[in-house]
Amino acid sequence: MVNLHIATITGEKTVLEQAAVETFKSSLHGELLSPEDAGYENARKVYNGMIDRYPCLIARCTDVADIIVAVNFARENNLLVAVRGSGHNGAGLGICNDGLVIDLSPMKGIRVDPVARTVRVEGGCTWGDVDHATHVFGLAVPSGIISTTGVAGLTLGGGHGYLTRKYGLTIDNLLEADVVLADGRFVTANAHENQDLFWAIRGGGGNFGIVTSFLFQAHPVSTVYAGPTLWTLDQATEVMRWYREFILNAPEDMYGFFAFLNVPPGPPFPEHLHTKTMCGIIWCYTGSLEKAEEAFRPIRNFAPAFEHIGSMPYPALQSMFDPLLPSGLQWYWKGDFVNQLSDEAIALHVKYGSQLPSFLSTMHLYPIDGAANRVGSKDTAFNFREAKWSMIMAGIDPDPANAEKITTWSKEYWNALHPYSCGGAYVNFMMEEGQERVQATYGDNYERLVAIKNKYDPTNLFRVNQNIKPTTT
Ligand SMILES: Cc1cc2nc3c(=O)[nH]c(=O)nc-3n(C[C@H](O)[C@H](O)[C@H](O)COP(=O)(O)OP(=O)(O)OC[C@H]3O[C@@H](n4cnc5c(N)ncnc54)[C@H](O)[C@@H]3O)c2cc1C
Repeated sequence: MVNLHIATITGEKTVLEQAAVETFKSSLHGELLSPEDAGYENARKVYNGMIDRYPCLIARCTDVADIIVAVNFARENNLLVAVRGSGHNGAGLGICNDGLVIDLSPMKGIRVDPVARTVRVEGGCTWGDVDHATHVFGLAVPSGIISTTGVAGLTLGGGHGYLTRKYGLTIDNLLEADVVLADGRFVTANAHENQDLFWAIRGGGGNFGIVTSFLFQAHPVSTVYAGPTLWTLDQATEVMRWYREFILNAPEDMYGFFAFLNVPPGPPFPEHLHTKTMCGIIWCYTGSLEKAEEAFRPIRNFAPAFEHIGSMPYPALQSMFDPLLPSGLQWYWKGDFVNQLSDEAIALHVKYGSQLPSFLSTMHLYPIDGAANRVGSKDTAFNFREAKWSMIMAGIDPDPANAEKITTWSKEYWNALHPYSCGGAYVNFMMEEGQERVQATYGDNYERLVAIKNKYDPTNLFRVNQNIKPTTT
């Protein structure tokens, strides 16, 4: 290994002596990768193919001790640090140029307690890993809508998905987290210990330390009645107007997110709909299966052009979109929280949603009412507790040549709809959009987050994230 030129937290370059790197390497149980190593190329890749960064070192941590060693090494050498869970972040905040990546992806431990209905999850797990572990016990933890997403990043930002209306955000089901702080201390945060830290990590992202494991409350969710209903674009205005009333008044067993999408060219979709741009709702009903037909009657009465609804294991629903969205596609997305879908907003949605710039591009409106709305906006760092939907305009395409096209569409669509939003976005649906947008996400909670950042990370060691800047630096 030659001397490495590595970035400091102030952005300058410094030279790391070979001996220091060798000592660091020998202190780790996991691998330490640098650009000349065979595994480096794969380890630096993240889910969003638009992100192409070259860290100097990647510490592939296998346990808590590795994380403590890596944090201490970074702090003592003043290094820029990125922390990686599953690398799914849209803005690519699990990786950085020139600095040290503390990569938790080898940490896959999960322990389910079926009696207490809790599950302890290490920081490198995906939601697919968790669903697999809990499903055999007839349990599930509220997460998102796709199985490849990382537990760590999703949870620390809030976490919304199929079970949100019934059981709340992912953070509303977080009982405890083990955290390595910037000074290398290992602490537990829960309702009794380090309460300020526990408050902050429930929505405040990776700003306060590295979560080594999460303890979640799980719920009895096993077989769900779920799937998509699709309508033609000429019905989109009518469908959106019906949907805004229907979903907010539906029992909390019923969840459905609205989408503009292109129909995949294969089964179960009929050939005449293949590749057609349509609008749709993807449903997940967690009530009793005997009552499912009755619960879906008003939806079927709205005469979808196609439906593919039936009972399925919850993990099957969670992984339904995985084959469509493999790692490495180009992604550019923008989002906002939304309180109301006015007729004017619907007209704009129909205009932009009808002009998807590529086959995979899409717009989703995820309901975040119900149980998530019953938690107060000051109870956790997640501020927008009165919002009804989390909206995202996602430009997606395999071809880098189309990066500009999908980016422009996302921005233009978002610009048109932003005036109809709550003014802030879900932190996990943002690119690197500047400090004002981060502050808008946290609103009245921002100052308290800064105070907690000052206490736990005064030098901003953990800055490769939607950053809450300390006022101590
Ligand atoms: C296809 C797709 C679908 C999605 N669907 C949903 C959805 O339904 N619901 C939803 O809520 N979100 C969804 N998301 C957004 C998702 O929550 C974020 O992308 C999230 O950041 C992914 O977490 P990760 O651990 O994979 O990310 P990473 O890229 O590994 O990290 C993301 C951020 O979290 C920090 N971080 C990671 N691990 C740790 C840790 N252990 N301790 C401290 N900080 C850490 C990183 O520093 C970084 O800032 C989706 C994303 C994609 C790409």
